[in-house]
Amino acid sequence: MLNTQRIKELARDVGFDLCGVARCRNFEGDRGFLEGWIEQGFASSLDYLKRNTERRADAAALVEGAKSVIVCAVSYKNCISEGYPADHKTKVASYACTTDYHTTIKQMLFELSARLKELAPLLSGRCFVDSAPIFEKRYAVEAGLGWIGRQSLLVTPEFGTFVLLGEIVMTEECDSYDEPLVTVGCGECRRCVEACPNGAVKERHIDTSRCISCATIEREGEGEKCDLHGWIFGCDECQIVCPYNRKAPLATNPRFAPKFNPIEFTSEWWQNLSAEEFGEVFGSTPLSRAGVERIKANVEK
Ligand code: SF4
Ligand code: SF4
Repeated sequence: MLNTQRIKELARDVGFDLCGVARCRNFEGDRGFLEGWIEQGFASSLDYLKRNTERRADAAALVEGAKSVIVCAVSYKNCISEGYPADHKTKVASYACTTDYHTTIKQMLFELSARLKELAPLLSGRCFVDSAPIFEKRYAVEAGLGWIGRQSLLVTPEFGTFVLLGEIVMTEECDSYDEPLVTVGCGECRRCVEACPNGAVKERHIDTSRCISCATIEREGEGEKCDLHGWIFGCDECQIVCPYNRKAPLATNPRFAPKFNPIEFTSEWWQNLSAEEFGEVFGSTPLSRAGVERIKANVEK
């Protein structure tokens, strides 16, 4: 059995800002919500969201004998997270200006996992970063990290929504488990709903067919184009306005320091970018997943 306090200390040691522990459980209700959301067409052409809804609901389906889920979060807020001048036409979401979090957070989870195995040599588990069918935001809520905001992101009291999540699903039990937060929340605030330029923010879910972030990165297909409002990769509009983000401190973990500042690049610069230059500047960032041609296609739509 692992000591929860020790897990949190080790998570801090490897660079996470927040860590909580939840019991493994089956989120049938969330599965029902997800399936209803898909049926209403809000997943648009994002077919990966339509797969494995059963496995998402039950972390034990991902790791045999799983008992606990360690949920870790790290702040990535940087100067770009505070917004762009109104006339800037090639905006990039602030998380994408750093090294790809899939790489960084996976490394941090592996480091944490190795430290935990020193405490419990028989521990078996898997690390997940936005890459497996798991209800990660739901587990983050269960583990006491925050709540789901109206724009459907995890909101944490101290770091707002500018956090990235990683989980370890493991067979070991813990000596105590965290509880969801009950004293904080969105209250009457609706700023993210009002800030979305395409009306994509519904009540705690997103219409992906209208969402700029989905349109610039994930969605394919001519039939689903939407106005990008100057964003060429991702979109931070519904986060910039969140009061919890406005008061959140800038990230201190050097692994999440920005590698470039989109303010320095114009539409013309992007259009003239060669594949080689793109690889040199953006090769380690999430932009590389979209590729230079897709980004160019998003410029000045
Ligand atoms: S990411 Fe942008 S387009 Fe998508 S819901 Fe938020 S504000 Fe709207
Ligand atoms: S902007 Fe307001 S409603 Fe939206 S997530 Fe933040 S606190 Fe909640």
